[in-house]
Amino acid sequence: MKPIIIQGAESSEIDYLLEKLENKEEISIGNYLFFKGNYEKKEVIISKTKVGEINSASATTIAILNFSPKCIINQGTAGGHGKNIHKGDLVIGEKYIQINSLFSNYLEEGKGSNIENWVIQEYKSKDDVTQNYNHANKDLLKLAKNVIPHISKNPVHIGVIGSGDMWNKEIDRILYLNEKFETLCEEMETAGVYKVSNSFNVPAISIRIVSNNEILKEEYEPSIARKCQEIIYEFIKRIDLKE
Ligand code: SAH
Repeated sequence: MKPIIIQGAESSEIDYLLEKLENKEEISIGNYLFFKGNYEKKEVIISKTKVGEINSASATTIAILNFSPKCIINQGTAGGHGKNIHKGDLVIGEKYIQINSLFSNYLEEGKGSNIENWVIQEYKSKDDVTQNYNHANKDLLKLAKNVIPHISKNPVHIGVIGSGDMWNKEIDRILYLNEKFETLCEEMETAGVYKVSNSFNVPAISIRIVSNNEILKEEYEPSIARKCQEIIYEFIKRIDLKE
């Protein structure tokens, strides 16, 4: 049976999932940790991706090549981008926009640096014909939309995740991303996960819990990651994708 990969960047984002894991076996590949085991009859592998897009892309590639997973569930914390998105709310990532993929318009010497002139842009090689690599898998998205709102006591939002190695604290920047790209939250791993998973045609979805909202002055609370894991644990029970 193909395993389900469940990813978390930091220890605090996988601790509950590891407590629940039966027949736990630790596997280390190139400094990336994987914990193989099962939840009742389901084979799962908990992957500690480490923080950031390079790590998440690497951990995803390693997982796909070594474990041939049925699907990949990325989960963890994120910063809320809307005025109606509170700490403890869930975000289901229909797609991501890479918020640190930027182009700056020309400014001559002495004119300084102006972030207002930095345009978000996706870079591709000319012969790269891949499309929609920034989307979650349709079946997993449908399942998440149906199931997560019944498991979570807090509101569940579905839409765009702003992903990139960047922690925004400027309210105008956050509001700009929210208004222009409809970002619901920001975090640092989903872009790497969706891009790699789509390249290998492995279904993936990212489900995040809001751990902070700079606009609303709701401060970062990393321990809230546990609640996200509890929800994911229940979600995994409902996954029944075809082999
Ligand atoms: N452990 C560090 C933070 C690590 S970086 C600390 O305590 O300071 C932040 C991690 O949390 C990343 O994995 C990212 O996906 C997530 N995250 C939570 N809120 C975020 C935000 N507002 N902006 C960017 N990443 C956020």
